[in-house]
Amino acid sequence: MKVDVMFGEEVFNDRVMKARLPRDVFEKLQLVREEGGQLDLATADVIAREMKDWAIEKGATHYTHWFQPLTGMTAEKHDAFISAPTQDGQVVLNLSGKELIKGEPDASSFPSGGIRATFEARGYTIWDCTSPAFVRRDECGAILVIPTAFCSYTGEALDQKTPLLRSMEKVSQAAIRLVRLFGNTTSQHVKPSVGIEQEYFILDRQKYLARRDLVFTGRTLFGAMPPKGQEMDDHYFGTIRPRIAAYMHEVNEELWKKGVPSKTQHNEVAPAQHELAPIFETANVAVDHNQVIMQILRRVATRHGLKCVLHEKPFAGVNGSGKHNNWSLTTDDGINLLNPGKNPHQNLQFQLVLACMLKAVDTHADLLRESAADVGNDLRLGANEAPPAIISVFLGEQLEEMMDQIIETGSADHILKGGKLETGVGSLTDVHKDATDRNRTSPFAFTGNKFEFRMAGSRDSVASPNVVLNAIAAEAFNEACDELEKADDFETACRALIRRYMSEHKRIVFNGNGYSDEWVEEATRRGLPNLRSMVDAIPALTSEKSIRLFGNAGIFTKVELESRAEIQYETYVKAINIESLTMQQMAGRQFIPAMMAYAGELGEQIALVEKTGICEAYVQRDILTELGRHLEAAHKALRALEKVTKEAQAMTDVREQANFYHELVVPAMEELRAPIDAAELIVDEKLWPVPSYADLIFEV
Ligand code: ADP
Ligand code: MG
Repeated sequence: MKVDVMFGEEVFNDRVMKARLPRDVFEKLQLVREEGGQLDLATADVIAREMKDWAIEKGATHYTHWFQPLTGMTAEKHDAFISAPTQDGQVVLNLSGKELIKGEPDASSFPSGGIRATFEARGYTIWDCTSPAFVRRDECGAILVIPTAFCSYTGEALDQKTPLLRSMEKVSQAAIRLVRLFGNTTSQHVKPSVGIEQEYFILDRQKYLARRDLVFTGRTLFGAMPPKGQEMDDHYFGTIRPRIAAYMHEVNEELWKKGVPSKTQHNEVAPAQHELAPIFETANVAVDHNQVIMQILRRVATRHGLKCVLHEKPFAGVNGSGKHNNWSLTTDDGINLLNPGKNPHQNLQFQLVLACMLKAVDTHADLLRESAADVGNDLRLGANEAPPAIISVFLGEQLEEMMDQIIETGSADHILKGGKLETGVGSLTDVHKDATDRNRTSPFAFTGNKFEFRMAGSRDSVASPNVVLNAIAAEAFNEACDELEKADDFETACRALIRRYMSEHKRIVFNGNGYSDEWVEEATRRGLPNLRSMVDAIPALTSEKSIRLFGNAGIFTKVELESRAEIQYETYVKAINIESLTMQQMAGRQFIPAMMAYAGELGEQIALVEKTGICEAYVQRDILTELGRHLEAAHKALRALEKVTKEAQAMTDVREQANFYHELVVPAMEELRAPIDAAELIVDEKLWPVPSYADLIFEV
């Protein structure tokens, strides 16, 4: 089937709705989607009926309210369309407006961070009519999937989507206020556009299943480096191997059918690592679609005898995976507020937006960092592959130079231009190059007409980074508007404000190498926060500043923020506890026995050789001595890890507990790993109980 025919085939999109819904119904829905407000029940009934009929034509038997609780996964419960059988044993198939709009899963087992006691188990799923419903096919048959928000009985958000939708409304209002200052009377709303690049690893399923660490924790907890890693850079952008190509082909088709505009695919830096990027969409649809992408990557892999690993750091010493979040703001009539145009030095509106963003990111660097906090990301951020845990903004030469002019003189009178690219080859067409080169080491980079937030983890939802971006942009825009709306001479006041913001927040701009040690020192001098780990980052959520930001905007109440912080700590505790237990089992039941088995073999050989009296078993003794050292170290480290984990488990305050896991359990895990990885390099490979790094990443 052709791609354009296939695209959106399984989606209840505008084209389908226009064809099936009475015009006034479609228009009412359209109005709610654009302006917000309530859909009346009669209208919802008509939409529900058509949605159901359409889904049944596609073979669907069930519908589900699909939501994103704070588990890091999506959740769903399936209901068949059938109603109670009639007297003569017939059923009719139904979906009422009420059922479309509101669902009530028994929600007591989802994380609520103390918002709900289990006896107050009510939670509601509420239809998000801005994200299209679609049909999904799997072993359950075909199911109509309805994207929903998930809230408690008292209206607190228990999910990723609710705050995202709230933040989108706030940034829209603030951005409209801002463009009005420049005489724009036509734009009605502004939407954040988001494009999410997804990195992942593909492994052979059988080999994956042979490693309990991968199965239980998503990453390897042991494993010596193979002789060859990624240093040759021969995988990056390399030809895609046939088995992977077949997989990607099917992933793309599934995504296109669901209306996900999958666009780019390539091999990533590490062997067995790949990337998929769709074309950007409105923030909440992009975030939903990213969940669909992760699900499809996993499902299709199973069908191909493969396993898609989305963990941020599946292999120590090998590049980890992230998720780049490209973000911009666009009006309903197509004006991208982050587009500098040809002459940014004359584009006052762009300069104001830029100055506001610098202020926003500088003021709330800790929150932005927190939004990328994730147990797996702790192993990646700050290592030499992902941006450091320090937030800074990369502007590029052109805009930084413009900013310097503004700070110095109050305005910019010229800009650096890109010019022609000289290849030295006559037959190559001349191309214009960008005014600035890229910087891969920056966590927050301006890339032409958007910001790219590069810290997010590959497994994590990117709802939180987008909530933070929308919220901090809205706050900065509103604060600027509060001042500028009162000004007698708008232009003078605006220029002064831009200059002031840029001077005050210049410290957040950094164009150099973010991976270098000098930057860490320089950032400390500048007073920028360096929140290295998840547990260091979580308190940012509940700071006075954060409560004010989110509270004023109506995005999170204090209670919601506290509950989220609590869930983050709980998540950390649970994840590290599972890792520790997995390590204990693997060490105790697989690696230490394998080491002892080899030691036994060596001992037998020594006895045998020495019995002959011809020579000494020097080599065997030498290896045995080294192995004995590792064995002893592993045994001691295992006992120590058992002890410290038990202590951690007994703690009651979740914040203290999380810190204890971070400060004492994680280092104890490293102590156990080291001697076992060392032993892997000297033990007969036939005796090693799990597939090696080389088996896993070079032989897919
Ligand atoms: P990169 O610059 O990272 O090599 P691209 O420029 O192709 O890659 O874009 C990466 C992602 O950013 C894609 O998902 C793309 O659709 C998205 N993107 C492009 N323009 C915008 C924009 N104005 N706003 C948000 N996302 C965008
Ligand atoms: Mg990118």
